[in-house]
Amino acid sequence: MTTTRRELLTVALTAAGAAATPNLGRAQEHGHDHDHQAVPSDPTLRVKALESLLVAKGIVDPAALDALVDTYEHKVGPRNGARVVARAWLDQAYKQRLLAHSTSAIAELGYGGEEGETMLVVENTAKVHNLVVCTLCSCYPWPVLGLPPVWYKSAAYRSRSVIDPRGVLREFGLKLAEDVEVRVWDSTAQVRYLVLPERPPGTENMSESDLSALVTRDAMVGVAKVAVPREGARA
Ligand code: FE
Repeated sequence: MTTTRRELLTVALTAAGAAATPNLGRAQEHGHDHDHQAVPSDPTLRVKALESLLVAKGIVDPAALDALVDTYEHKVGPRNGARVVARAWLDQAYKQRLLAHSTSAIAELGYGGEEGETMLVVENTAKVHNLVVCTLCSCYPWPVLGLPPVWYKSAAYRSRSVIDPRGVLREFGLKLAEDVEVRVWDSTAQVRYLVLPERPPGTENMSESDLSALVTRDAMVGVAKVAVPREGARA
């Protein structure tokens, strides 16, 4: 249930069009069920309007823009966190440091700074599942996860993760047993959270880099588990 960048652009363009022509389009605006609380902020609208013009005039290639954003949202950022997770899975002493002094342990691997000044790593176990949200806005640990995904910033995720975390997790395709305790962590400008997911079985002989390749952004936010690699899927 991820919102694609393309869908966001479409919503933003609709909103931008309505804002630019205040007497037109208002009547049709409410004939659909998107989340009206998630109308983008003014700077976001300006960026989207600019992007749409550049695309419409053929000055930039939307696929190239998507590729760039995808890189920062899914590849560069979360790969840092994945490295932290893989190291913790392989090195018990590092894991203890990571759970006890998260910020400095993450800094050991070279990650830290803005939007990650104070980190807290929370460990998933067979009996505890951690879920991270920012109910107020979109605080997110940039140095280890990159940019927050669109759904993380949505009003629905921000409110429902606290009210009905199990329901939200089910919608992400994660069904937890009744005896698993769900802990929801509300990020702030002061403290950002990273979930240390459970290491899946069948990964006993994997290297640190192969392990880190299994770790997804969603698993480190707590809306997914790290999947068990299929037999023979990896060399
Ligand atoms: Fe926030």
